Amino acid sequence: MNGLSPETIKQKIVAYAETIGIDELKVTTADPFIVMKERLVKQQEKGFASGFEEPDLDKRTKPELLLEDAQSIIAIAIAYPSKLKEAPRSVSGSRRGLFARASWGLDYHRAVGSRLEKLQAYIESIVPGVRTRSMVDTGELVDRAVAERAGIGFSGKNCSIISPEKGSYLYLGEMILDTYLPPDEAIEDGCGDCDKCMTACPTSALVEPGVLDAKRCIAYLTQMKTLMPREFRSKLGGRLYGCDTCQQVCPYNRKKDWRHHEELLPEAEIVKPLLEPLLTLSNREFKTKFGHLSGAWRGKKPIQRNAILALAHYREPSAIPVLRTFIQEDAREDMRATAVWAIGAILGEEAETIYEEIEQTEQSEMVLEEIRIFREEWGREDRVV
Ligand code: SF4
Ligand code: SF4
Repeated sequence: MNGLSPETIKQKIVAYAETIGIDELKVTTADPFIVMKERLVKQQEKGFASGFEEPDLDKRTKPELLLEDAQSIIAIAIAYPSKLKEAPRSVSGSRRGLFARASWGLDYHRAVGSRLEKLQAYIESIVPGVRTRSMVDTGELVDRAVAERAGIGFSGKNCSIISPEKGSYLYLGEMILDTYLPPDEAIEDGCGDCDKCMTACPTSALVEPGVLDAKRCIAYLTQMKTLMPREFRSKLGGRLYGCDTCQQVCPYNRKKDWRHHEELLPEAEIVKPLLEPLLTLSNREFKTKFGHLSGAWRGKKPIQRNAILALAHYREPSAIPVLRTFIQEDAREDMRATAVWAIGAILGEEAETIYEEIEQTEQSEMVLEEIRIFREEWGREDRVV
Protein backbone atom coordinates (compact mmCIF):
# COMPACT_ATOMS: atom_id res chain seq x y z
CA MET A 1 0.00 0.00 0.00
CA ASN A 2 1.06 3.57 -0.57
CA GLY A 3 -0.17 4.91 2.77
CA LEU A 4 -2.28 7.62 1.08
CA SER A 5 -5.82 8.06 2.34
CA PRO A 6 -8.72 7.67 -0.13
CA GLU A 7 -9.37 11.43 0.19
CA THR A 8 -5.75 12.24 -0.71
CA ILE A 9 -5.75 9.83 -3.64
CA LYS A 10 -8.92 11.45 -4.98
CA GLN A 11 -7.48 14.95 -4.60
CA LYS A 12 -4.35 13.91 -6.49
CA ILE A 13 -6.43 12.30 -9.25
CA VAL A 14 -8.60 15.41 -9.62
CA ALA A 15 -5.51 17.65 -9.78
CA TYR A 16 -3.77 15.39 -12.32
CA ALA A 17 -6.92 15.16 -14.50
CA GLU A 18 -6.87 18.91 -14.96
CA THR A 19 -3.33 18.76 -16.35
CA ILE A 20 -4.31 16.29 -19.10
CA GLY A 21 -7.33 18.14 -20.43
CA ILE A 22 -10.14 16.53 -18.46
CA ASP A 23 -12.70 19.24 -17.77
CA GLU A 24 -14.70 17.47 -15.05
CA LEU A 25 -13.89 14.46 -12.90
CA LYS A 26 -16.30 13.09 -10.34
CA VAL A 27 -16.58 9.81 -8.47
CA THR A 28 -19.47 7.49 -7.74
CA THR A 29 -19.76 4.11 -6.08
CA ALA A 30 -19.75 0.83 -7.99
CA ASP A 31 -23.25 0.00 -6.74
CA PRO A 32 -25.68 -1.35 -9.35
CA PHE A 33 -27.60 1.25 -11.38
CA ILE A 34 -31.05 0.12 -10.30
CA VAL A 35 -33.08 3.04 -11.67
CA MET A 36 -31.24 2.87 -15.00
CA LYS A 37 -31.99 -0.85 -15.24
CA GLU A 38 -35.71 -0.15 -14.79
CA ARG A 39 -35.50 2.53 -17.51
CA LEU A 40 -33.69 0.14 -19.85
CA VAL A 41 -36.20 -2.66 -19.27
CA LYS A 42 -39.05 -0.27 -20.15
CA GLN A 43 -37.10 0.99 -23.16
CA GLN A 44 -36.71 -2.57 -24.46
CA GLU A 45 -40.34 -3.48 -23.75
CA LYS A 46 -41.58 -0.47 -25.68
CA GLY A 47 -39.18 -1.08 -28.57
CA PHE A 48 -37.43 2.27 -28.00
CA ALA A 49 -33.86 0.89 -28.03
CA SER A 50 -31.72 1.62 -31.07
CA GLY A 51 -30.14 -1.84 -31.25
CA PHE A 52 -26.60 -0.41 -31.13
CA GLU A 53 -26.39 -1.00 -27.38
CA GLU A 54 -25.02 -3.94 -25.34
CA PRO A 55 -28.05 -6.27 -25.08
CA ASP A 56 -27.22 -7.68 -21.61
CA LEU A 57 -28.93 -5.26 -19.20
CA ASP A 58 -27.12 -6.70 -16.17
CA LYS A 59 -23.76 -5.91 -17.73
CA ARG A 60 -24.96 -2.39 -18.48
CA THR A 61 -26.00 -1.75 -14.92
CA LYS A 62 -23.79 -3.90 -12.63
CA PRO A 63 -20.18 -2.69 -12.49
CA GLU A 64 -19.24 -5.74 -10.38
CA LEU A 65 -19.80 -7.91 -13.48
CA LEU A 66 -17.23 -5.88 -15.39
CA LEU A 67 -14.45 -5.70 -12.78
CA GLU A 68 -14.00 -8.08 -9.88
CA ASP A 69 -14.27 -6.33 -6.52
CA ALA A 70 -15.29 -3.05 -8.20
CA GLN A 71 -15.55 -0.31 -5.58
CA SER A 72 -15.61 3.07 -7.32
CA ILE A 73 -16.24 4.60 -10.71
CA ILE A 74 -14.54 7.74 -11.96
CA ALA A 75 -16.69 9.74 -14.41
CA ILE A 76 -15.01 12.23 -16.69
CA ALA A 77 -16.27 14.89 -19.09
CA ILE A 78 -14.55 16.79 -21.88
CA ALA A 79 -16.31 19.87 -23.26
CA TYR A 80 -16.43 20.29 -27.03
CA PRO A 81 -17.10 23.17 -29.45
CA SER A 82 -20.58 24.06 -30.68
CA LYS A 83 -19.82 26.72 -33.28
CA LEU A 84 -17.93 26.91 -36.54
CA LYS A 85 -15.59 29.84 -36.25
CA GLU A 86 -15.32 30.32 -40.00
CA ALA A 87 -18.06 29.51 -42.47
CA PRO A 88 -17.03 27.13 -45.27
CA ARG A 89 -16.40 28.82 -48.63
CA SER A 90 -19.58 29.50 -50.53
CA VAL A 91 -20.04 27.78 -53.88
CA SER A 92 -22.87 29.22 -55.89
CA GLY A 93 -25.85 26.91 -56.37
CA SER A 94 -24.35 24.27 -54.06
CA ARG A 95 -25.76 23.15 -50.77
CA ARG A 96 -23.99 21.76 -47.75
CA GLY A 97 -24.88 19.12 -45.18
CA LEU A 98 -23.87 19.04 -41.54
CA PHE A 99 -22.27 16.56 -39.15
CA ALA A 100 -23.54 16.87 -35.56
CA ARG A 101 -21.30 18.67 -33.10
CA ALA A 102 -20.41 15.52 -31.17
CA SER A 103 -18.66 14.21 -34.29
CA TRP A 104 -16.58 17.31 -35.01
CA GLY A 105 -12.83 17.18 -34.54
CA LEU A 106 -10.94 14.07 -33.45
CA ASP A 107 -13.16 11.02 -32.85
CA TYR A 108 -14.21 11.34 -29.20
CA HIS A 109 -13.52 7.66 -28.55
CA ARG A 110 -9.87 8.54 -29.11
CA ALA A 111 -9.99 11.93 -27.39
CA VAL A 112 -11.60 10.51 -24.25
CA GLY A 113 -9.84 7.13 -24.49
CA SER A 114 -6.34 8.63 -24.57
CA ARG A 115 -7.08 10.74 -21.48
CA LEU A 116 -8.42 7.69 -19.64
CA GLU A 117 -5.21 5.82 -20.53
CA LYS A 118 -3.07 8.59 -19.05
CA LEU A 119 -5.29 8.75 -16.01
CA GLN A 120 -5.02 5.00 -15.54
CA ALA A 121 -1.20 5.12 -15.70
CA TYR A 122 -1.18 7.91 -13.12
CA ILE A 123 -3.52 6.07 -10.76
CA GLU A 124 -1.37 2.95 -11.06
CA SER A 125 1.64 5.05 -10.05
CA ILE A 126 0.02 6.27 -6.84
CA VAL A 127 -2.04 3.15 -6.03
CA PRO A 128 0.24 0.19 -6.79
CA GLY A 129 -1.67 -2.96 -7.75
CA VAL A 130 -4.94 -1.15 -8.51
CA ARG A 131 -7.08 -2.73 -11.20
CA THR A 132 -9.19 -0.59 -13.51
CA ARG A 133 -11.51 -0.89 -16.48
CA SER A 134 -12.20 2.12 -18.70
CA MET A 135 -14.88 2.72 -21.30
CA VAL A 136 -16.24 5.34 -23.66
CA ASP A 137 -19.60 5.05 -25.41
CA THR A 138 -19.17 1.50 -26.73
CA GLY A 139 -18.50 -0.01 -23.30
CA GLU A 140 -21.14 -1.89 -21.36
CA LEU A 141 -21.99 0.79 -18.79
CA VAL A 142 -24.34 3.63 -19.68
CA ASP A 143 -22.07 6.70 -19.70
CA ARG A 144 -24.96 9.00 -18.88
CA ALA A 145 -26.05 6.97 -15.85
CA VAL A 146 -22.52 7.05 -14.42
CA ALA A 147 -22.12 10.78 -15.09
CA GLU A 148 -25.52 11.53 -13.54
CA ARG A 149 -24.88 9.61 -10.32
CA ALA A 150 -21.35 11.02 -10.02
CA GLY A 151 -22.67 14.58 -10.29
CA ILE A 152 -21.16 15.63 -13.63
CA GLY A 153 -24.61 16.94 -14.49
CA PHE A 154 -28.31 16.18 -14.22
CA SER A 155 -30.16 14.14 -16.81
CA GLY A 156 -32.24 16.57 -18.88
CA LYS A 157 -35.62 15.99 -20.49
CA ASN A 158 -33.61 15.70 -23.72
CA CYS A 159 -31.71 12.72 -22.21
CA SER A 160 -28.40 14.63 -22.23
CA ILE A 161 -26.23 15.10 -19.17
CA ILE A 162 -26.34 18.80 -18.42
CA SER A 163 -23.75 20.51 -16.28
CA PRO A 164 -25.18 23.77 -14.89
CA GLU A 165 -21.82 25.45 -15.62
CA LYS A 166 -20.74 23.72 -18.82
CA GLY A 167 -23.99 22.77 -20.54
CA SER A 168 -24.37 19.47 -22.38
CA TYR A 169 -21.80 19.59 -25.17
CA LEU A 170 -19.74 17.08 -23.19
CA TYR A 171 -18.00 13.85 -24.10
CA LEU A 172 -18.33 11.33 -21.29
CA GLY A 173 -16.23 8.39 -20.22
CA GLU A 174 -15.63 6.33 -17.10
CA MET A 175 -13.21 4.10 -15.25
CA ILE A 176 -14.18 1.37 -12.78
CA LEU A 177 -11.62 0.76 -10.00
CA ASP A 178 -11.20 -1.89 -7.34
CA THR A 179 -10.18 0.86 -4.93
CA TYR A 180 -12.43 2.94 -2.73
CA LEU A 181 -12.59 6.66 -3.48
CA PRO A 182 -15.00 9.02 -1.68
CA PRO A 183 -18.06 9.48 -3.93
CA ASP A 184 -19.48 12.83 -5.04
CA GLU A 185 -23.14 13.76 -4.82
CA ALA A 186 -25.57 13.72 -7.73
CA ILE A 187 -26.91 17.17 -8.54
CA GLU A 188 -30.51 18.30 -8.68
CA ASP A 189 -32.61 18.22 -11.80
CA GLY A 190 -32.53 21.64 -13.43
CA CYS A 191 -35.17 21.40 -16.19
CA GLY A 192 -38.08 22.67 -14.13
CA ASP A 193 -41.01 23.74 -16.32
CA CYS A 194 -38.91 24.09 -19.46
CA ASP A 195 -39.87 21.82 -22.37
CA LYS A 196 -38.05 23.51 -25.24
CA CYS A 197 -36.25 20.33 -26.31
CA MET A 198 -39.45 18.30 -26.42
CA THR A 199 -41.30 20.78 -28.60
CA ALA A 200 -38.28 21.38 -30.87
CA CYS A 201 -37.64 17.70 -31.69
CA PRO A 202 -38.44 17.29 -35.41
CA THR A 203 -39.58 13.67 -35.08
CA SER A 204 -41.25 13.72 -31.64
CA ALA A 205 -38.64 11.23 -30.48
CA LEU A 206 -38.74 12.55 -26.90
CA VAL A 207 -41.95 10.71 -26.06
CA GLU A 208 -41.90 11.77 -22.39
CA PRO A 209 -39.47 13.93 -20.42
CA GLY A 210 -36.25 11.92 -20.35
CA VAL A 211 -37.65 9.08 -22.48
CA LEU A 212 -36.27 8.74 -25.98
CA ASP A 213 -37.71 6.50 -28.68
CA ALA A 214 -34.31 5.95 -30.30
CA LYS A 215 -35.92 4.56 -33.46
CA ARG A 216 -37.52 7.95 -34.10
CA CYS A 217 -34.43 9.94 -33.18
CA ILE A 218 -32.54 11.49 -36.09
CA ALA A 219 -29.25 10.69 -34.35
CA TYR A 220 -30.15 7.01 -34.87
CA LEU A 221 -31.92 7.39 -38.21
CA THR A 222 -28.88 9.05 -39.81
CA GLN A 223 -26.85 5.95 -38.90
CA MET A 224 -29.25 3.40 -40.41
CA LYS A 225 -27.88 1.64 -43.45
CA THR A 226 -31.22 0.75 -45.00
CA LEU A 227 -33.84 2.68 -46.94
CA MET A 228 -35.09 5.55 -44.76
CA PRO A 229 -38.73 5.00 -43.70
CA ARG A 230 -40.92 7.42 -45.68
CA GLU A 231 -42.20 9.11 -42.54
CA PHE A 232 -38.72 10.45 -41.74
CA ARG A 233 -37.25 11.25 -45.17
CA SER A 234 -38.22 14.88 -45.09
CA LYS A 235 -37.39 15.33 -41.40
CA LEU A 236 -33.61 15.09 -41.61
CA GLY A 237 -33.13 18.52 -43.14
CA GLY A 238 -29.45 18.95 -44.03
CA ARG A 239 -28.22 16.55 -41.33
CA LEU A 240 -25.65 14.03 -42.53
CA TYR A 241 -24.91 12.48 -39.16
CA GLY A 242 -26.57 12.99 -35.82
CA CYS A 243 -28.82 15.77 -34.60
CA ASP A 244 -28.19 18.63 -32.17
CA THR A 245 -31.60 20.28 -32.10
CA CYS A 246 -32.61 19.28 -28.56
CA GLN A 247 -29.26 20.52 -27.26
CA GLN A 248 -29.19 23.69 -29.36
CA VAL A 249 -32.47 24.90 -27.89
CA CYS A 250 -31.47 24.09 -24.31
CA PRO A 251 -30.96 27.25 -22.24
CA TYR A 252 -28.01 25.61 -20.47
CA ASN A 253 -26.10 25.64 -23.77
CA ARG A 254 -26.66 29.32 -24.47
CA LYS A 255 -23.33 30.94 -25.40
CA LYS A 256 -21.46 27.68 -24.68
CA ASP A 257 -18.70 27.03 -27.20
CA TRP A 258 -15.75 25.17 -25.72
CA ARG A 259 -12.70 25.76 -27.90
CA HIS A 260 -9.84 24.97 -25.52
CA HIS A 261 -9.07 21.49 -26.88
CA GLU A 262 -7.15 21.99 -30.11
CA GLU A 263 -7.84 18.48 -31.43
CA LEU A 264 -11.61 18.92 -31.08
CA LEU A 265 -11.86 22.05 -33.19
CA PRO A 266 -13.84 21.49 -36.39
CA GLU A 267 -12.78 22.12 -39.98
CA ALA A 268 -15.78 23.76 -41.60
CA GLU A 269 -15.13 22.21 -45.04
CA ILE A 270 -15.17 18.72 -43.47
CA VAL A 271 -18.05 18.94 -41.00
CA LYS A 272 -20.21 21.00 -43.36
CA PRO A 273 -19.36 19.42 -46.72
CA LEU A 274 -20.83 20.16 -50.12
CA LEU A 275 -23.57 17.63 -50.78
CA GLU A 276 -23.23 16.78 -54.45
CA PRO A 277 -19.55 15.69 -54.35
CA LEU A 278 -20.46 13.23 -51.58
CA LEU A 279 -22.40 11.15 -54.11
CA THR A 280 -19.34 10.38 -56.21
CA LEU A 281 -16.78 9.73 -53.44
CA SER A 282 -14.84 6.46 -53.58
CA ASN A 283 -14.44 4.50 -50.34
CA ARG A 284 -10.80 5.56 -50.18
CA GLU A 285 -11.66 9.23 -50.67
CA PHE A 286 -14.34 8.98 -48.00
CA LYS A 287 -11.89 7.47 -45.53
CA THR A 288 -9.21 10.06 -46.25
CA LYS A 289 -11.58 12.98 -45.87
CA PHE A 290 -13.92 11.87 -43.09
CA GLY A 291 -12.27 8.80 -41.51
CA HIS A 292 -11.07 10.68 -38.41
CA LEU A 293 -14.62 11.78 -37.48
CA SER A 294 -16.71 9.63 -35.16
CA GLY A 295 -19.54 10.31 -37.60
CA ALA A 296 -17.79 8.13 -40.18
CA TRP A 297 -18.05 4.93 -38.11
CA ARG A 298 -20.94 3.51 -40.17
CA GLY A 299 -19.06 4.10 -43.40
CA LYS A 300 -19.91 6.00 -46.55
CA LYS A 301 -23.37 4.64 -47.32
CA PRO A 302 -25.53 6.32 -44.65
CA ILE A 303 -23.76 9.65 -45.23
CA GLN A 304 -24.45 9.42 -48.97
CA ARG A 305 -28.07 8.41 -48.37
CA ASN A 306 -28.49 11.39 -46.03
CA ALA A 307 -26.84 13.68 -48.59
CA ILE A 308 -29.49 12.63 -51.13
CA LEU A 309 -32.25 13.34 -48.59
CA ALA A 310 -30.64 16.73 -47.88
CA LEU A 311 -30.64 17.62 -51.59
CA ALA A 312 -34.34 16.76 -51.62
CA HIS A 313 -34.88 18.88 -48.51
CA TYR A 314 -33.31 21.89 -50.23
CA ARG A 315 -35.40 21.24 -53.37
CA GLU A 316 -32.18 21.76 -55.28
CA PRO A 317 -32.91 21.49 -59.06
CA SER A 318 -29.20 21.74 -59.93
CA ALA A 319 -28.78 18.37 -58.19
CA ILE A 320 -30.95 16.54 -60.76
CA PRO A 321 -28.10 15.63 -63.18
CA VAL A 322 -25.96 14.18 -60.39
CA LEU A 323 -28.95 12.23 -59.04
CA ARG A 324 -29.71 10.84 -62.51
CA THR A 325 -26.11 9.74 -62.99
CA PHE A 326 -26.17 8.21 -59.52
CA ILE A 327 -29.27 6.16 -60.42
CA GLN A 328 -27.60 4.96 -63.64
CA GLU A 329 -24.34 3.97 -61.96
CA ASP A 330 -24.98 2.91 -58.37
CA ALA A 331 -25.39 -0.82 -57.73
CA ARG A 332 -27.27 -0.46 -54.42
CA GLU A 333 -31.03 -0.57 -54.98
CA ASP A 334 -31.95 1.18 -51.72
CA MET A 335 -29.67 4.06 -52.66
CA ARG A 336 -31.18 4.28 -56.15
CA ALA A 337 -34.64 4.19 -54.56
CA THR A 338 -33.66 7.10 -52.31
CA ALA A 339 -32.41 9.09 -55.31
CA VAL A 340 -35.62 8.35 -57.22
CA TRP A 341 -37.64 9.62 -54.27
CA ALA A 342 -35.46 12.74 -54.10
CA ILE A 343 -36.04 13.56 -57.76
CA GLY A 344 -39.80 13.48 -57.11
CA ALA A 345 -39.40 15.67 -54.01
CA ILE A 346 -37.41 18.23 -56.00
CA LEU A 347 -39.32 18.30 -59.28
CA GLY A 348 -42.83 17.31 -58.29
CA GLU A 349 -44.97 16.39 -61.32
CA GLU A 350 -42.10 17.25 -63.62
CA ALA A 351 -40.28 14.16 -62.37
CA GLU A 352 -42.57 12.08 -64.59
CA THR A 353 -40.38 12.36 -67.71
CA ILE A 354 -37.33 11.16 -65.79
CA TYR A 355 -39.32 8.38 -64.15
CA GLU A 356 -40.47 7.09 -67.56
CA GLU A 357 -36.84 6.91 -68.65
CA ILE A 358 -35.79 5.11 -65.47
CA GLU A 359 -38.58 2.55 -65.91
CA GLN A 360 -37.13 1.49 -69.25
CA THR A 361 -34.02 -0.01 -67.68
CA GLU A 362 -34.57 -0.32 -63.92
CA GLN A 363 -35.09 -3.91 -62.71
CA SER A 364 -35.37 -3.38 -58.96
CA GLU A 365 -38.85 -3.72 -57.47
CA MET A 366 -37.78 -1.44 -54.62
CA VAL A 367 -36.90 1.36 -57.02
CA LEU A 368 -39.97 0.90 -59.23
CA GLU A 369 -42.15 0.89 -56.13
CA GLU A 370 -40.91 4.40 -55.30
CA ILE A 371 -42.13 5.59 -58.70
CA ARG A 372 -45.51 3.89 -58.23
CA ILE A 373 -46.00 5.43 -54.78
CA PHE A 374 -45.00 8.84 -56.12
CA ARG A 375 -47.68 8.64 -58.81
CA GLU A 376 -50.30 7.49 -56.35
CA GLU A 377 -49.46 10.16 -53.82
CA TRP A 378 -48.68 13.17 -55.99
CA GLY A 379 -51.27 15.84 -55.35
CA ARG A 380 -52.68 14.21 -52.23
CA GLU A 381 -52.79 16.63 -49.32
CA ASP A 382 -51.52 14.09 -46.80
CA ARG A 383 -48.57 12.96 -48.94
CA VAL A 384 -45.37 12.42 -47.04
CA VAL A 385 -42.96 14.36 -49.33
FE1 SF4 B 1 -35.12 14.80 -31.41
FE2 SF4 B 1 -32.83 15.37 -32.64
FE3 SF4 B 1 -32.93 15.31 -30.00
FE4 SF4 B 1 -33.16 13.02 -31.40
S1 SF4 B 1 -31.36 14.34 -31.26
S2 SF4 B 1 -34.39 13.63 -29.65
S3 SF4 B 1 -34.31 13.77 -33.20
S4 SF4 B 1 -34.02 16.73 -31.36
FE1 SF4 C 1 -34.30 20.62 -19.75
FE2 SF4 C 1 -35.23 22.70 -21.15
FE3 SF4 C 1 -32.78 21.79 -21.59
FE4 SF4 C 1 -34.91 20.36 -22.34
S1 SF4 C 1 -34.32 22.34 -23.15
S2 SF4 C 1 -33.08 19.57 -21.32
S3 SF4 C 1 -36.34 20.80 -20.69
S4 SF4 C 1 -33.54 22.69 -19.68
